[in-house]
Amino acid sequence: MRQLDHHIAGSGGGAAAARTADIFDPNTGQVQAQVVLGTAADLDRAVAAAQAAQPAWAAINPQRRARVMFRFKELVEANMDALAHLLSSEHGKVIADARGDIQRGLEVIEFACGIPHVLKGDYTQGAGPRIDVYSMRQPIGIGAGITPFNFPAMIPMWMFGVAIACGNAFILKPSERDPSVPVRLAELMQEAGLPEGVLQVVHGDKEMVDAILDHPAIGAVSFVGSSDIAHHVYRRGVAAGKRVQAMGGAKNHGIVMPDADLDQVVADLSGAAFGSAGERCMALPVVVPVGDRTAEALRQKLLPAIEALRVGVSTDAEAHYGPVVNAAHRERVANWIQTGVDEGAELVVDGRGFALQGHEQGFFIGPSLFDHVTPDMQAYKEEIFGPVLQIVRAPDFETAVRLPSEHQYGNGVAIFTRNGHAAREFAARVNVGMVGINVPIPVPVAYHTFGGWKRSGFGDTNQHGVEGVKFWTRIKTVTQRWPDGSALPRGSEDGGPSRVQDAFVIPTME
Ligand code: NAD
Repeated sequence: MRQLDHHIAGSGGGAAAARTADIFDPNTGQVQAQVVLGTAADLDRAVAAAQAAQPAWAAINPQRRARVMFRFKELVEANMDALAHLLSSEHGKVIADARGDIQRGLEVIEFACGIPHVLKGDYTQGAGPRIDVYSMRQPIGIGAGITPFNFPAMIPMWMFGVAIACGNAFILKPSERDPSVPVRLAELMQEAGLPEGVLQVVHGDKEMVDAILDHPAIGAVSFVGSSDIAHHVYRRGVAAGKRVQAMGGAKNHGIVMPDADLDQVVADLSGAAFGSAGERCMALPVVVPVGDRTAEALRQKLLPAIEALRVGVSTDAEAHYGPVVNAAHRERVANWIQTGVDEGAELVVDGRGFALQGHEQGFFIGPSLFDHVTPDMQAYKEEIFGPVLQIVRAPDFETAVRLPSEHQYGNGVAIFTRNGHAAREFAARVNVGMVGINVPIPVPVAYHTFGGWKRSGFGDTNQHGVEGVKFWTRIKTVTQRWPDGSALPRGSEDGGPSRVQDAFVIPTME
């Protein structure tokens, strides 16, 4: 059986690991490999290598750092097929989604190719008499990233692309459920010319995560995962004096106004609610039709669309979505469906009991649809993270704004309407971090920034874009004064110009 090792300064070294975790093939339900689960001692080795490599990496001019990113992008593109298949085989998302996962990460690498421009500092000439002020962004030193299973390529690249381009060394702790692609990405970075020790991958679970949070040499930690863990990471990291950004779970709503194009909405929902088996933090698992007529019409159109969804193995080019990541998660999704039923919601389509012929041991679950879900239900309040769409009927626009605004999560939200005024009001007022207007999955492009509000995001800086650069750098501000030291002292024999000797004053006082 294949055993996946750490990627620490070119050599793994975890071969004698006491603990391992199984990596499944979700299509078959079989264990296909094992990953070592590291300890604080493994992390120490990675940190020592990072400390050795980082100063020289930071001293390389930013244009040359960017060139490594350009080469990495080429290498990932050249290896796209193999990476997408590897990703799909461990995660279970269909190949087209796996390619999208890699592509969205590469877009952050493209942003990182422009790092020299973004890292330029600010300069004020003459902030006072012969006084200039300038500021520069310097790397934190060693950063770490802890990532979830659902985007094993994109989310690591969100983090290491920006952190490394800024001159940091980076230690990645990917999800133990699908860790192979992150290791391949680190190998490709090295092939692209990244010095050994600048990007390393350590595997593990809570033990490794807590070691990262407690390690005094790691200055910044970026986390993406579920909210309770995000909150834990945030508190423990901050208590250890680190900079922490911790993105959490989600329950995104799609508001459907009475004037919306329902055929378009249904087409959008098929992908946004069920694509990738609902295992996306920007999935749209709650739809909020405004008015009962909208709700009835939407429901009627959703039924055949759900019926038409094809669930298949992740390599099936015709499949809309594949299996969920493991058996425990499939059970969790099924339990939430039962909770919804027990709480009195109407289960219109039941995806439990679905089995794919020839793949009965795979982690498949059919699409489910609930109607008459209400805000007091636990099944509404919590994230299900599966192919389950809930209809929550709203009598009016005000209720539709209030529902996502008052929900504990605030990652993404969408409104479907032809009314620009309603859309504009909604975007301005809704208490959520990322808004789509007739866009079901409003993931911002790489040069903007990604981050949710409330329990979807702890900390105050977002992923990638300029916000990412702010997170992975510290600002240093220099106030400089250059008295005229070149001239000869007053009264010297050759009668040269007098030296200007002014007392230092607060720059703005003169
Ligand atoms: P998870 O919270 O189980 O795991 C995330 C990371 O935390 C993994 O690396 C895991 O090894 C580690 N971890 C797990 N348990 C831990 C513990 N007790 N202590 C310390 N670390 C621990 O999340 P997941 O199931 O891999 O991913 C799905 C979740 O991630 C969903 O809630 C989804 O909404 C969320 N997510 C959020 C975003 C976002 O940007 N907001 C993006 C993608 C996924």
